[in-house]
Amino acid sequence: MADVDVHLLDRGRIEADANFVLDGSTVATASNPNPDLRYEEFLVWNLVIDHPKGTVLWDTGSHPEAGDDYWPAPLYEAFAHVDAGEHDLEDDLAAAGYALDDIDAVVMSHLHLDHAGGLYHFEGTDTPVYVHARELEYAYRSGNTDTGSVAYFPPDFDRELNWSVVRGDHLLYEDFRLLHLPGHTPGLLGARIDRGDETLLVAGDEAYWQENYDGQSMAASLLWDNRAWRESLDRLHELELEHDADVLLGHDTAMLDRFGETW
Ligand SMILES: [Zn+2]
Repeated sequence: MADVDVHLLDRGRIEADANFVLDGSTVATASNPNPDLRYEEFLVWNLVIDHPKGTVLWDTGSHPEAGDDYWPAPLYEAFAHVDAGEHDLEDDLAAAGYALDDIDAVVMSHLHLDHAGGLYHFEGTDTPVYVHARELEYAYRSGNTDTGSVAYFPPDFDRELNWSVVRGDHLLYEDFRLLHLPGHTPGLLGARIDRGDETLLVAGDEAYWQENYDGQSMAASLLWDNRAWRESLDRLHELELEHDADVLLGHDTAMLDRFGETW
């Protein structure tokens, strides 16, 4: 059995309209044609997965200058990472007792700009950066053509990185398996981590909030493929049931209470 600890790093808050996350959260009706919109807080987290075979950083958060004109203005208007500047990756790692030098490998759940903004710390190093093949392809296509998704920002990921490309599920270390969960993006990776009879499922942005995990769809702008998203959700539900697993969701502030600092 792998003696693994998982540390949850609080990387700050994004503020955005709840309609992005809960499709049809606020709808106008005949009796209430101008309802109040819900402007909500979203948690950004990273993980340090401390495994006997290596110390893994899961995602890298937003670039610290996200709100200082680094992110394109229309994107920041829609998804305001209001405190990215107070959440430098090195500081947040230090708060959990780690330094950048301790990181043996990085896993990118996907390459959206609230996840890939800290990759520059690993530029020019030989630290492997795990990513799904379809994610890397889609990110480059999105960044360099007018097809794909605007949520990929090439200055985050178009760097000299030691990419380690996976093509399906991938056993990273003993009891630590990457799961391909397409839907939110083509190459979204989650994880299954086992410790004795305990199981942690890292769902990540497959479900931003608990409501998504319970089946309420995210808006079309956050779903690359709705049918693939449903199938990935079914897969997670089955694993959760089979292993009585804890499930870590992508942007739900309740995760801080549910997991505390360490799993
Ligand atoms: Zn995200």
